[in-house]
Amino acid sequence: MKKSSVGIIDPWGSTEIESYERLLEEFGIQPLEGVADKLPHKPSFIRRKIIFGHRDFERIVDAINNKQPFAVMSGIKPSGPLHIGHILTIREMIFFQKMGGTVFYCIADIEAYEDNGIPFEESEQIAVDNLADALALGLDPARAYIYRQSKENDVKDLAFIFARSVTLSTIEAIYGARHMGLYMSALVQAGDILLPQLKRFGGPKPTLVPVGIDQDPHIRLCRDLAHKFREKYGFVLPSATYHKIIRGLDGSPKMSKRNPMSYFTLTEDVESISYKLRNAFTGGRPTAKEQKELGGEPERCPIFDLYKFFFIEDDEKLLEIYMKCRNGETLCGEDKAFAVEVVTSFIKEHQRRKHSLIDKSRAILGLD
Ligand code: SF4
Repeated sequence: MKKSSVGIIDPWGSTEIESYERLLEEFGIQPLEGVADKLPHKPSFIRRKIIFGHRDFERIVDAINNKQPFAVMSGIKPSGPLHIGHILTIREMIFFQKMGGTVFYCIADIEAYEDNGIPFEESEQIAVDNLADALALGLDPARAYIYRQSKENDVKDLAFIFARSVTLSTIEAIYGARHMGLYMSALVQAGDILLPQLKRFGGPKPTLVPVGIDQDPHIRLCRDLAHKFREKYGFVLPSATYHKIIRGLDGSPKMSKRNPMSYFTLTEDVESISYKLRNAFTGGRPTAKEQKELGGEPERCPIFDLYKFFFIEDDEKLLEIYMKCRNGETLCGEDKAFAVEVVTSFIKEHQRRKHSLIDKSRAILGLD
């Protein structure tokens, strides 16, 4: 995928954002401020501008405030254990579910095959594990439609119907030159996003897709298709919220499977996670003396990102950590010890809860 003036956005590869502000302008994404103030409650990922932009989010806010039906659609690619970054998308789904939305949780096994070559039998087992994570985080299966792409004929039918109106040059302009399977999986994802609006699920309705900014090409393609097929299906253009991409623990722009020191998973043992945290890149100074004099730089610190994105819910506590770092009152060694404590106690409790939900996850997927 080509580099634009704001960086690289590639849903199947590396994404590096140089400026979120410029990105809003270049891609016609609206800033979240203002519209988010109309929400009855603002979770930390909205208060802290981790979700920074949207397309047609007003429609969802109106549905929430007027108690009208809406869908929250998100897909998780079963290509391995969920890493810490996935928590954000799942928390967004859960938040909007609690606000009255019906969740459509797609297990993107077609994409896992096309992008990662993972056979369906294998991704089925991975999906059990991933879904148990989502349940442990609080997803309510009673208000969710959970399905595998490969088994959902309506989604595949929509992909074929859409395919007729997408030329090779259009799809190449969006995604660059890729193999045909990825193009097909992009059309399948458009089917996923519009599935909640089929008659079978009550017909057209506002549909929110909470995603990382790297997924914007899929949103643009799908909105274009929703517009083209509006007359036939009555589709409401899907809305999207965009969250920032979390940096790798090693200081790289994005957590990547290619570098295991850049991330940890929700199933990883706590010793391994502790090791990665203790060896993480920080915004600290080269020596303790300099850090005490100049203070650290939490803005470029992946440890601070972990607090901000996932682990410190209380804004006052987060500000205290920020100020103590900035003023040189905290040194990175002691702060990393704190991070190890906070993260591993969360992971231990999460793994305990998840373990008790594996059978439920198998049953939901019809594998018991
Ligand atoms: S003190 Fe903590 S937040 Fe500040 S740079 Fe060091 S590790 Fe990062």
